[in-house]
Amino acid sequence: MNTTDCIFCKIIAGEIPADKVYEDEHTLAFLDIMPINPGHTLVIPKNHHENIFTLPQETLGHMMKTIKKISMAIKESLHIENINLGMNNGKIAGQVVFHAHVHVMPRIENDGHILWHGKPYGAGESAKIAEQLKKAL
Ligand code: AMP
Ligand code: ZN
Repeated sequence: MNTTDCIFCKIIAGEIPADKVYEDEHTLAFLDIMPINPGHTLVIPKNHHENIFTLPQETLGHMMKTIKKISMAIKESLHIENINLGMNNGKIAGQVVFHAHVHVMPRIENDGHILWHGKPYGAGESAKIAEQLKKAL
């Protein structure tokens, strides 16, 4: 299941170049072309799925296995012990390429990148949200 106008499907098919670092039956890992730090890697499923909402559970499992491998390789070869994992799902969440992918991002002291800033719940709000989520599970 590949789509002809998807840039990551084209990378899988070898139609456009990429610095591939790992490949197995289900997943591919290659360097992000605009890394937040050297070694920033994208892990993608070989089948085209748009994002977390359409990704089969099993495929996500395969991706997680590859994410662990890549993280260990970054630690061992680049001597980096700080990594952020990130997945943008949907336009508002920052997704630009609509082929599901997880960013494996090496972090270096004082690299200038910021983490999320939390904002507190209002009174009673968290219990209500937790209830809503629980009902959907
Ligand atoms: P996202 O905002 O999560 O959809 O991120 C898409 C990521 O894909 C960005 O970090 C881009 O730098 C990266 N990207 C886009 N095109 C390519 C490409 N041809 N090769 C490698 N990485 C790419
Ligand atoms: Zn695709």
